[in-house]
Amino acid sequence: MPEDSKEHVATLLASAGHCIDQHSGGVSPTIELSTTYARDSRYEHRLPGLSYSRDANPTYRPAETLLARLETGEDALLFSSGLAAATAIFKSLRSGDHVVAPKIMYHGLRDFLNAHCERFGIRLDYFDAREPDGLSRAVRPGETKIVWIETPCNPTWDVTDISGAAEIAHAAGARLAVDSTVATPVLTRPIEHGADLVMHSATKYLNGHGDVVAGALVCRKADPLWDAIRFERKHGGAVLGPFEAWLLLRGMRTLWIRVEKSCDNALAVARYLESHPAVERVLYPGLASHPGHELAKRQMRGGFGGMLSMLVKGDAETARAVATRTRVFVPATSLGGVESLIEHRASVEGPASPIPPNLLRLSLGIEEKTDLIADLEAALAAVPR
Ligand code: PLP
Repeated sequence: MPEDSKEHVATLLASAGHCIDQHSGGVSPTIELSTTYARDSRYEHRLPGLSYSRDANPTYRPAETLLARLETGEDALLFSSGLAAATAIFKSLRSGDHVVAPKIMYHGLRDFLNAHCERFGIRLDYFDAREPDGLSRAVRPGETKIVWIETPCNPTWDVTDISGAAEIAHAAGARLAVDSTVATPVLTRPIEHGADLVMHSATKYLNGHGDVVAGALVCRKADPLWDAIRFERKHGGAVLGPFEAWLLLRGMRTLWIRVEKSCDNALAVARYLESHPAVERVLYPGLASHPGHELAKRQMRGGFGGMLSMLVKGDAETARAVATRTRVFVPATSLGGVESLIEHRASVEGPASPIPPNLLRLSLGIEEKTDLIADLEAALAAVPR
């Protein structure tokens, strides 16, 4: 860790990890667009590791270094999307390896796992993260290589005990990988709880402005699995463009205040919806009624996240209609941006989705909360009670 690691995360973020351009003194780094690098008179690379941009690009480094420091890991890698980052882990495994993942998780990765594991002979088991011994029954000592968890998880926002999962994974000889997209390093740093790998869809809170698709992995230790993941990025080619890497770093500078405001808005909206006569149930870890509330209080610091779901009284049609009546909430998929979004989740996940048909997923942005509540009030007014 660098010498100033005692610094508050907000300070680290605002300064983009004290990233001052070495040549010009610019407080914002330059964008390195070159795809290839000239060698010197001895036919050596001028800077170690800089040969071709699919392997490494100087524009990645400030964002990668900042992420590694935020997550208290040894190294970080940017990818072209969150899925590219997550799948690089599973593409680094061998045929015959065993992996376990939760039944409720980001559906895109679940679809990938089902197809990839079957095609490449990787054994896959799902566990119920709500059952206290769900994970310990799913792992196979000596055979399981990766335990995957997502906390809080899409779209029920169930919270998984990271340190408990790390203990079980490590006792079985497996590594624990955590999709921490929704928590962000502002609220939870999984490596501090024993995780080995942390994954982010940087498309979401890290960038935060709905204009970059990106992903990131952070490792506790740069071990042989990490080398295999780096190989996968280089040879699989799922690299981020330099401009996107630069935009991502700029977005991260305001991560702290954006997450703080989103959490504040989410809690206010969740409390409002909880007593609304047109709402059957609200799922938000910040509410005492949520099964993960006590764990979230211990594991998440400074807030419960900006994501919540509501089950509208009625069927899929009733719920979808609510999502068409909002004016501040934009009816769109994705999450973690400055603007609030509302989405009928079952429509996005398709007919095989386990998601209740009356569930609407809300991503709280940084708008004024009274406007958000007034918007929902109007959209819910037409729901039959
Ligand atoms: N993980 C979570 C929790 C997500 O919500 C998403 C995208 O919605 C992903 C991973 C995939 O990220 P990306 O869309 O950047 O590939």
